[in-house]
Amino acid sequence: MGRTAFLYSDDFLSYDLGGAHPLQQRRLQMVYRLLGAYGVLAPEGPIEWKTPVPATQEEILRVHTPDFVAMVMRAGTGYRGPDLKRYGLSDGDTPAFNSMYEAAALYAGGTVEAARLLLTGNYDYAFNVAGGLHHAHPDHASGFCTFNDLAMGALTLRDGGLQRVVYIDIDAHHGDGVQACFYDDPETMTISLHESGQFLFPGTGFAEEVGNGAAAGTSLNIPYYPYTLDDVWHNAFDAVIPDALARFKPDAVIFQFGADAHWEDPLAHLLITSEGWMRMVDKLFRLTQGLPAIVTGGGGYNIKTVARLWTMVAARCAEIELPDQVPASYAAQYDIHYLHDRETPQVEESVQRDARAYVENQLETLKALI
Ligand SMILES: [Zn+2]
Repeated sequence: MGRTAFLYSDDFLSYDLGGAHPLQQRRLQMVYRLLGAYGVLAPEGPIEWKTPVPATQEEILRVHTPDFVAMVMRAGTGYRGPDLKRYGLSDGDTPAFNSMYEAAALYAGGTVEAARLLLTGNYDYAFNVAGGLHHAHPDHASGFCTFNDLAMGALTLRDGGLQRVVYIDIDAHHGDGVQACFYDDPETMTISLHESGQFLFPGTGFAEEVGNGAAAGTSLNIPYYPYTLDDVWHNAFDAVIPDALARFKPDAVIFQFGADAHWEDPLAHLLITSEGWMRMVDKLFRLTQGLPAIVTGGGGYNIKTVARLWTMVAARCAEIELPDQVPASYAAQYDIHYLHDRETPQVEESVQRDARAYVENQLETLKALI
């Protein structure tokens, strides 16, 4: 059985970008409570609930520039001057808020702690449900993300001797911040499957972006056309990623399981079903079996979908089969009745043809460069 730690605290809800903001962190509490309702958290169940500690300033400064970190601190204590803009902290996406530094340090600390738990050798999977903030760049916040917990997690794994880390991101958006952190680093591979930057934020993540110099071939991107369905999503992955993983021979893995590729997500346009999405999670776990794995969340703006998918991820880490029907008291409170979808998205054949052609074209470019 997979030994699994699940990092959660109600304090994660302090990363609060506002009541009308698409990022609603009560989704994290919904995951925690659904796992509790199923009785799979210790002491009743096999998943060990751990509370995170904030990342230290030293840990944050390993990834981020001193002036950016100082500006997040000032923003968190009420500063609202015009130079916030330079650090990505003044737009509607990632607005400054009080205690922003502490809130961002806490979610980032969850991923650092997940790495430390894996390094003890006592866990196969450590799931920081608040992690996965993949748009944060070394010198600026972006796309709802302040600190890049994923890069901090990778460096912590490396401290413990897990030198070759592969980062795999299935969020609907390109994992641009993590890619930027490791674009010149041949020992860290970043893989991102996402809706093409031609159609969606952040506008990057094309097949041509394969890494610099000695790191060429260790940044892999598969951009998809809007309205892509399960089979096209999987087939493009199968065409390049398993071979790339086998060649890279990682010592550890970091997953970013943003839930916004799901068809009910309001911010993106991929049409992945819960079945197709979990089939990908399962495939990734089988491909990386035996490697210590940090699991994180990420995007996900239909909070009921997030609660369903990430609960299933935690159960899959511990190799537990959950009944599809959600426990009654939870279902009544949150109006979530089944883990899996009850409906399937439909797309015209001509659009499906376009989706296939688009990704095949990107794959040709990618295969020629790696
Ligand atoms: Zn996303």
